[in-house]
Amino acid sequence: MTEKKSVFEGAELDVEDDVPCSAEDLLFPDLFVGLEIDLLSPGDGIVTDRHHASADRYEADDAMNQIEGQISPFTLSGWLRHGCEQVVQVAGASACHPGESNADYMRKDVYERDLESGYHEKGSCLEDHDDGCVVYDLFGGFGDRPGSLLRRPVSFSPIRRNVDVLDGEAEAHYRQVSSQVRSRNAEDGGQPLRHAERDVLGNVEGTWKLTLRDAKPEFVGLVLEAVSYLDAHSDEFAFQLGGARNFGGGIADAWVINPLYSESEVRRVFDRAKKVTSVMEEKDETWRSECRPAFVRALQARVAARDGDVPVPDGGGSA
Ligand SMILES: [Zn+2]
Repeated sequence: MTEKKSVFEGAELDVEDDVPCSAEDLLFPDLFVGLEIDLLSPGDGIVTDRHHASADRYEADDAMNQIEGQISPFTLSGWLRHGCEQVVQVAGASACHPGESNADYMRKDVYERDLESGYHEKGSCLEDHDDGCVVYDLFGGFGDRPGSLLRRPVSFSPIRRNVDVLDGEAEAHYRQVSSQVRSRNAEDGGQPLRHAERDVLGNVEGTWKLTLRDAKPEFVGLVLEAVSYLDAHSDEFAFQLGGARNFGGGIADAWVINPLYSESEVRRVFDRAKKVTSVMEEKDETWRSECRPAFVRALQARVAARDGDVPVPDGGGSA
């Protein structure tokens, strides 16, 4: 009988001896979030690559425009963090408020209301636990606490062979969408009043690469549960990604790619010409039945150890 082993710091994962869930069996410390988004409008969050065709040289009627660029990690991070907060709150605990308690909120009453509904003041959890709550520990505070999760931008290209999903890249097609806002008054003859332009990406398909700087199984559990939650609620206004939400923007199919996969198996997920192998199917079963639940239990233990300050809702727990 082999000994239970885990290179996750100070934590044993509660799995059978022969199940490969320890860090050296995984693509650790990287986690790849698979993304499929029909329409993404991240607002200021697109940086185009001037070496190809920059936004300046963009021609709306040129179907061949090959603009590459990046989706800002800030847009993605806020979305993931919101999912993490929700998971912690559903489990009956409170989450760190994302804003500083002394910030100049435009609507003070909204901040106060947040504190009464599932949030605590950012960093107040450090008084109870050296590392703070799991959301604080993972995302960090501003300033001296960098957090454990490195969130990269997603580089995109319309040319699939330029996309490396192991580098956190996606295939996506950049467009500037123009719309004329026209007068409704009959006497104006429908003349345009205002011209609006919006940067969008169509058919985003690829990965967002996350890297854990600290090896804590509850972090893996939190990211797993948050991504599941976001995927299950992807068409709810609060959990869409970026802007244009009323127009179907930011409805993201998202999943954590099985961390038991090898690098070539991760590539295979996005290779339309190739199917899932039987080895990948076996890994999916091991992940689903043994590893994933162990990481989620680690998250539940961490959350339960800290928080008694919010009543546990009926049916609370992992999704
Ligand atoms: Zn906190």
